[in-house]
Amino acid sequence: HLNSKYRTYSTETGKWRQVIAEKNGSVNAFVHITPPQPIEDGPLAGIPIAIKDNIATAGSPTTCSSAMLQNFVSPFDATVVKLLRKAGADIIGKTNCDEFGMGSLNVHSVHGPVVNPFHSYSSGTTWLDREKRSAGGSSGGSAAAVAAGMCVAALGTDTGGSIRLPASYCGIVGFKPSYGLVSRWGVVSFADSLDCVAVMAANVSDAKRIFNFISVYDEKDPTAATDDVRQMASNSVQEGLHQLRRKTRTGTSLDGIRIGIPQEYFPSELSPTILGPVRRAILSLKSQGATIVPVTLPSTSYALSAYYVLASAEASSNLARYDGIQYGNRVVPPHGADLRKTSRIYAYTRSAGFGHEVQKRILLGTYALTADAFDNYFLQAQRVRQLVKNDFNSVFSIPDYYSPSSHAKDPLETTVDVLVHPSSIRTAPPLPTAKTDLNEDAGLDAYVQDVLTVPASLARLPALNVPIHDYTERKVQGQVDELDDGWPIGISVVGQWGTDELVLEVGEALE
Ligand code: GLN
Repeated sequence: HLNSKYRTYSTETGKWRQVIAEKNGSVNAFVHITPPQPIEDGPLAGIPIAIKDNIATAGSPTTCSSAMLQNFVSPFDATVVKLLRKAGADIIGKTNCDEFGMGSLNVHSVHGPVVNPFHSYSSGTTWLDREKRSAGGSSGGSAAAVAAGMCVAALGTDTGGSIRLPASYCGIVGFKPSYGLVSRWGVVSFADSLDCVAVMAANVSDAKRIFNFISVYDEKDPTAATDDVRQMASNSVQEGLHQLRRKTRTGTSLDGIRIGIPQEYFPSELSPTILGPVRRAILSLKSQGATIVPVTLPSTSYALSAYYVLASAEASSNLARYDGIQYGNRVVPPHGADLRKTSRIYAYTRSAGFGHEVQKRILLGTYALTADAFDNYFLQAQRVRQLVKNDFNSVFSIPDYYSPSSHAKDPLETTVDVLVHPSSIRTAPPLPTAKTDLNEDAGLDAYVQDVLTVPASLARLPALNVPIHDYTERKVQGQVDELDDGWPIGISVVGQWGTDELVLEVGEALE
């Protein structure tokens, strides 16, 4: 149903496109803007929603921000896009991203970097005069489009944090649902065992509403959770929460909710800027009735390395299809080359079509899958993935639907319903100004940005970023110290598989 909140949005198709026309030149969030369409009837009638450019949209380009697919126009809609169109949404355009979703700063794009549009604290100067910072990646265009008021919501993908990190840097809400709840059909694969379609919006209730439209079983996605699974998982969540401790809950208070604070999510790399606001947000949850419990997830520090081995291995296999013959922009070898060797087309196509970061991942992933390295890298990373999952299962009150036997013994005394932690180790980093800034060292720095987001991806858990008060509020409350650079700070809520509603509920309490 059309919620009253939506009625405040303008559904004049021209208005939103005008904002895009004004701001996109400097933000670079959109890589394609669809021409105005007649508004269809439906619960999302005329609501402008942007789509990351690795999600297929009929009639618009789907480039994955790669030279490899620069001219590709999809003949069909991804299931998620089809569902939104059916509800009447105005699919307003395609958003910039890191090439094939690989990156954390949205600088690896054939369309150029996305500039973080956050500007709420500038006084006197316009934000355009200020320091240029990254919008985060890989769904940086989607995050910036929402943050700049160019659309009501945007879809992105989250493989290892690509929704939560840019949402945190841009000061908006980003929600990665439990793996398998939202169809991946028509979404260009990066690492199938981790890829999730995810939602960005200005507030939790908007994100939740869009999520409810796309959280539907799709037989075309072999990893999609079936209706039975959804029903059974939801029953076990209800049972777990209501029987154990939520009987007494009233209204919107968090009475009876136990929130875990994982100590490993406050690593040495965490900028001191982040600490104060996160602590205050946790105290606000406590004042709303939640019980705060320190917990430990000891395998956390291994998650990042395991993620990069697994994601790269899957990517190297997925990206093999771009060979210039079946898929991808073909680059024909120069005059004089031996054309009988198709591998030459393959090599020329892939050298020209893939950017530096994608080539690096393909090499890394291919190596991890070779006979010599397989046991030490790929299998070892799979083992770490299981340890990370076990860590989560040992602290959650609600059993893991897919492995109930790994559940903790004493749910009431020691376990928690959700986890809360900082979303990123710092505020948005400055945009690298020259190509040289993206050399090896800077690259490693970018990987570290994902340290707080990859564990939930490996364990396929629902995870939500909520922005903590903006600078103006912090200033009014006298909470600004010299460490505070005024840029957005995000806090994450993570729950057991299938507890998406609970995660969103705690997220709303953080707003
Ligand atoms: N930054 C991570 C990577 O580069 C995550 C990407 C993502 O979630 N798509 O792999």
